Amino acid sequence: MDEREAVTVVRLRAGTARQPSFFVHWKRALRHSLALFFYALNCPLAAVGQPITFAAIGDFGSDNISTKQVAGLVKSWRPDFILTLGDNNYPSGSAATIDRNIGQFYHEFIGGYHGRYGAGAATNRFFPCLGNHDWVADGAKPYLDYFTLPGNERYYTFRRGSVEFFCLDSDAKEPDGTAPGSVQGRWLQQQLTNSTAPWKLVYFHHAPFTSGTQHGTHTGETKRMDWPFRDWGASVVLAGHDHIYERIHTNGLVYFVNGLGGDSRDKFHRVPVAGSVKRYSADFGAMRVQASEKAMLFLFFNRHGSVVDSYQMVKPEAAAAGK
Ligand SMILES: [Zn+2]
Repeated sequence: MDEREAVTVVRLRAGTARQPSFFVHWKRALRHSLALFFYALNCPLAAVGQPITFAAIGDFGSDNISTKQVAGLVKSWRPDFILTLGDNNYPSGSAATIDRNIGQFYHEFIGGYHGRYGAGAATNRFFPCLGNHDWVADGAKPYLDYFTLPGNERYYTFRRGSVEFFCLDSDAKEPDGTAPGSVQGRWLQQQLTNSTAPWKLVYFHHAPFTSGTQHGTHTGETKRMDWPFRDWGASVVLAGHDHIYERIHTNGLVYFVNGLGGDSRDKFHRVPVAGSVKRYSADFGAMRVQASEKAMLFLFFNRHGSVVDSYQMVKPEAAAAGK
């Protein structure tokens, strides 16, 4: 906010020695109120420590009614920004489908948007990660051309409010590797170590723990993403790939699988993965997260707005104080 605006508004409220006429006063007050209102509307950047609300969607990139309905739900929350958990553009990450699969539903959140569905965001509020379907296109070029993201755009970090976000590229085609000791792995370890944020949220596409039939832990397909996230300081891990919702408490962390963003729905393996607490794939849906310095509340809703799962993480000191 322009500090002068705030000062003026306070003075107008407090009154001044030389009172302007009622009409002039009213006009100024209106002008400043409008300026503040539009500032609030356009301000996606929560200051450090300020509570934030964001959405997370996974495996959504299809032009169909489910994706549209999930997008409607997400937008009804008026989130500060949206994370995606990959597979943003089915089936092959193509430039020919990317705007129809993403921009059609979420253009208002995308910075530097040049698609055909209307205006984008003045400041980017859409933070996707790469999925295997995005990588079907050579070099994931359509994705990298479409979005304007921090860092090298494949893996990156950004901070909002009390949360630092760490987006990884978990696809085997990632040039900097997907092992904990790879260039990307060492980057993450360093970034987590350096971060002073109260909460450190890691997100990527290939869920290391999942009970899904397609890509579940039982298949061994995504074992490569079982990194020492907790040892490196992460607070929580979000991923997708299996088109299910699941909350798993393992390795001293909470892992969410969230792949019900609209493409299709998968089933569960008959034996759930160790630590699985909640499993759902009866309908599509999305996650809403509210984060303050002391707590993070994760809610998963189905596309009709019913709460499927609710989980709160509280800082130990806040819990001890009964806050
Ligand atoms: Zn996938």
